[in-house]
Amino acid sequence: MNEQLVTRVPVVAIDGPGGSGKGTVSTAVARHFGWHYLDSGAIYRVLGYLAHENRINEHDVSGLTALTHDLDIEFQEEGVVLDGQNVETLIRTEEAADRASRISPIPEVRRSLLEWQRKQARPPGLVSDGRDMGSVVFPDALCKFFITATPEKRAERRYKQLREKGFGVKMEILLREIAKRDERDAMRKASPLKPVEDATVIDTTDMSIGNVISSVLEEVNRCL
Ligand code: C5P
Repeated sequence: MNEQLVTRVPVVAIDGPGGSGKGTVSTAVARHFGWHYLDSGAIYRVLGYLAHENRINEHDVSGLTALTHDLDIEFQEEGVVLDGQNVETLIRTEEAADRASRISPIPEVRRSLLEWQRKQARPPGLVSDGRDMGSVVFPDALCKFFITATPEKRAERRYKQLREKGFGVKMEILLREIAKRDERDAMRKASPLKPVEDATVIDTTDMSIGNVISSVLEEVNRCL
């Protein structure tokens, strides 16, 4: 690992469970400062998608790890681009989220993605969101956040997001799926989802997204 590379560029690490609002907040913070944005969840989603396309079993550790080499992923305004193809719609389904959370506990896969993620810390700065940004990928981040909300609220937000994108989903199923993924992410041995000691924890259950963004910006300005 190149610690120098990690520490030289300011990094804001924003972790939390799915549907907490961390993606929206991270994008807004990155835009505000004109920094790069790393949506690490998208990488696990892309891997799940590639594994499915290439018929690689979720237990095939070497096959999955091989997929992490030479990943050609770009984060553009229109969404995630893989090998020049926009895969945004393909990776945002509940199925894709489920595949991602089945692959993500594999330590070899996580290790293999570390360098790629760290390389995204390029000047003038990076906002990264995920589950282990503050704990493992960018332990020296300038500012760390853990953004959360109740499972019911997160399911409600996910429901709205998916409906807006044209996906048909049922609220009860969504809530069950979210709880299942939360448990998988929190109970795994490799980089489990939990706030690090130096993270600012924000419970967004009763907050508007605008308020969450302003509090995060205020805190980042303090860290700078
Ligand atoms: O954030 P998002 O919901 O897109 O992430 C999908 C899945 O990818 C998560 O449920 C989690 O299993 C995995 N993930 C991870 N580490 C990250 C980001 C996502 O394990 N840093």
